[in-house]
Order: sequence, then C-alpha cells, then structure tokens
Amino acid sequence: RAKATGRGCWSFFEEEMDLELRKRRALESDLRNAVDNNEFELVFQPIVKLDQQRISTCEALLRWRHPERGYVSPADFIPLAEETGTISQIGEWVLRKACCEAAAWPGGIGVAVNVSAVQFKNAAVVRAVMEALSASGLPAHRLELEITESVLLNDSVTTLATLHTLKRLGVRVAMDDFGTGFSSLSYLQSFPFDKIKIDQSFVRNLDATGNARLIVRSVIGLGRSLGITTTAEGIETEAQLEQLRLEGCEEGQGYLFSRPVSAAAIRDLVANLGRNAA
Ligand code: C2E
Ligand code: MG
Ligand code: MG
Ligand code: MG
Repeated sequence: RAKATGRGCWSFFEEEMDLELRKRRALESDLRNAVDNNEFELVFQPIVKLDQQRISTCEALLRWRHPERGYVSPADFIPLAEETGTISQIGEWVLRKACCEAAAWPGGIGVAVNVSAVQFKNAAVVRAVMEALSASGLPAHRLELEITESVLLNDSVTTLATLHTLKRLGVRVAMDDFGTGFSSLSYLQSFPFDKIKIDQSFVRNLDATGNARLIVRSVIGLGRSLGITTTAEGIETEAQLEQLRLEGCEEGQGYLFSRPVSAAAIRDLVANLGRNAA
C-alpha cells in the first residue's frame, strides 16, 4: 500500500512537471505572437522633481494583455522573453511606442525606457534607438535608457562601447535598481551615468530602524559628488518623501505621486500640469 502511494505521488509529481513545462511552452509561443497580435501596451509613471513638484520624466512600463490569462506581469514574461530572444523585437516596439507618446508631451518632459541586457548583446540596440527617435521626432536628450547591472555584467567592452555610442547620440543613461547588484559602485567608475535610481528596497525601509537611511544618504551624496541625478524609486508614504527631501534627493517616483497609468491618462496629466504652470 505504502509503495502504491509512493508511486502515485511520483507520477503526480511528474504530471505537475509536465503541466508546468507545457504551460511554459504555451506562454513562450504566445509571447512570440504577442507583438503582432497587439497584446502589449505601455503604461507610464511620472518621476517628480522633489523640490518643485514638477514632472521631469515618465517611465514607460510594459504590460501584456494575454487573451486568456489577462494581464501577465513583466516580472513573469520579461525573463521568458529574454531567454527566447523575443525581447529584441519587444524592446524595439517599446522604444518606438514610448518615443511616439513622449513626442506629444509638453514642456520637454522626458521618457525613460527599460532596456534589457539581452538587447545589448548586439549593436541593433543603437539602430533601434535611432529609428525610434527619427520616427517620433523626439529630441535625443528627452530619451533616457534605464539599464540594470546585468547589462554591464555581460561583456563589458562591447557593452561600454555601445553605451558610449548612445551617449554621443545625446540619449541619457540611468542605472536602475541601484544597490541591489554586486558591483553597482564599480560600474559608476566605468561609465558616465546621468542618473542613479535608488532601489525601492532601500526606500521601503526608510521608516524602519536600520541602515537604509544611512545608505540612502550615502548614495545621494555619491550622486552629488559625481554630478549624477538621484531618483528614489517606490515612494509610498509622506514619511518616506519627507526623509528623502531632507536628505536632498533630487527626484522621486512611486505610488504616493501616481501609479503607472495609461498613455491617454498620462497625456491628460502632463497637459493639465502645463496649464496650471501657465
Ligand atoms: P523597474 O524598472 O525597476 O520599474 C519599477 C517597478 O516598480 C514597476 O513595476 C512599477 O510599477 C513599480 N512601482 C512603482 N512605484 C511603486 C511603489 O510605490 N511601490 C511599489 N511596490 N512598486 C512600485 P512593473 O511595472 O511591474 O515592472 C517590473 C520590472 O519589469 C521593471 O522594474 C523592469 O525591470 C521590468 N520592465 C518593465 N517594463 C519593461 C520593458 O519595457 N522592458 C524591459 N526590458 N523591462 C521592463
Ligand atoms: Mg526602470
Ligand atoms: Mg527599478
Ligand atoms: Mg526592477
């Protein structure tokens, strides 16, 4: 009896594995068609200048509306797209779409686009950026590329050359999720980043006792010495905002200001702000 149960368990486990694998395969093939089927959309989240309460940039964040599963989180499908190579096609779509939207925003508001490490493995990313800029008419200085440390881990020589080419085009480059990787600091030494985005894990712990506040203070100081803008990610409370202001953080982003919203909603938001300012 015990044996039978054992075998039963095992085959149940195998079935589970098989199901997981099949689900994954299905998702992979759905992902390959998602661009052509128009299943992607971009939402935008404002990044605010903390001293003036003014929007400087909006970050484009990708959403996949799966016909049966509903919204799939980028945390789930971006790694899959990276493994299968689909990320290059998706990334080009994101760049084009983000630049086209931003070109309609008033007041020189910029757009930040997340670029995957996989897109940096060949020179196509430079061409994709140039095409997105020329198709939209967006001036290069209004486009900011957000990269994580994994971009630089790849193959530093080629990647650094690509980053320098992009900078020569006038595009800005931000280091995303700063402080979560192994060598964020050493990368600041090897490339002239325009912006450091302090990871939300530090911001989240600002209210708690512990070292988060001291770390945030140091990163802001580091940015100031290097002439690099610092942006705090994931600001959710007034208390966090107050602390960041006191520490002299330049910019912030988070649910406290706004959740990521549709392209139409961000258009309204930036237009109204323009009217208020006028
Ligand atoms: P990220 O670039 O660090 O983006 C910030 C994430 O934090 C977004 O999650 C955003 O919705 C979320 N967030 C913003 N404010 C708050 C807050 O106050 N509290 C909390 N808890 N979360 C906040 P999202 O949209 O799910 O994106 C997750 C990650 O997926 C992004 O992290 C980025 O690494 C990746 N991603 C998103 N869109 C793209 C894309 O177009 N291309 C690539 N390669 N990656 C993307
Ligand atoms: Mg980002
Ligand atoms: Mg981030
Ligand atoms: Mg992240």
